[in-house]
Amino acid sequence: MNELVESIRERYLQTLERIAIAARSVNRQPESIKLVVVTKSQSLEVTRAAVEAGAQFLGENYPEEGVTKLQSMGGVSAVEWHMIGHVQSRKAQLVAENFNFLHSLDSLKLARKLDRFCGEAGRSLPVLLEFNVGGEESKSGWKAWDEAMWNSLLDDLSAIIALPNLQVRGLMTMPPLGTSAEFSRPYFQKLKRLQEYLALKFPRVNFGELSMGTSSDFEVAVQEGATLVRVGTAIVGARQYKTEVK
Ligand SMILES: *Cc1c(COP(=O)(O)O)cnc(C)c1O
Repeated sequence: MNELVESIRERYLQTLERIAIAARSVNRQPESIKLVVVTKSQSLEVTRAAVEAGAQFLGENYPEEGVTKLQSMGGVSAVEWHMIGHVQSRKAQLVAENFNFLHSLDSLKLARKLDRFCGEAGRSLPVLLEFNVGGEESKSGWKAWDEAMWNSLLDDLSAIIALPNLQVRGLMTMPPLGTSAEFSRPYFQKLKRLQEYLALKFPRVNFGELSMGTSSDFEVAVQEGATLVRVGTAIVGARQYKTEVK
């Protein structure tokens, strides 16, 4: 194993251990939580090293960057490629044809496009619904910071649930940037409550997955019920570049 792989492996294993400790602290099974290693804006070399180090789920934010990597790494067989960033409508086809999982479905319009492209490609895409529970106007996701808003989400969500080629699996959020992990806790709790609300409204849908928590707050997210945590810098280090690969 080269040095890069070794250092990523060490941080990957440490992260798994921290997830396990957080899970046990609230009597959850550590195996019920998946660690998505966020390789957005990391080189192909780092991304390959993450897989060699043991990563099973890779998180990418930009469709082209992710597709370039997954194609040069020999398709999607060894790992699952998760799209975790906002997807513009014109990128729907790339996502539908290449990714294994979408965390950041944030509009009915995008859902319809993805469904159509999945149908044409003969694929079915598991998706999470992204909610803005923090009240920041600039964030993507359905506005859901006030419980009084939840009822107004139901029309969009029932239309999405009816789409034949998307499988709704749960919810995702990205809370406002805070100064400590504890800052995120009420936002994670709110997503959990929204999950319970939607499960009552749509009893035939399994909303079991909760994607929440990043390098700075994943342990709190696990304590509040996360089943997928998205950890980048704590495992693969600082990002190499910030702009989308063209
Ligand atoms: C970048 C990103 C992450 C990972 O953030 P880190 O601080 O590097 O762990 C998680 N989720 C989303 C949506 C991101 O864009």
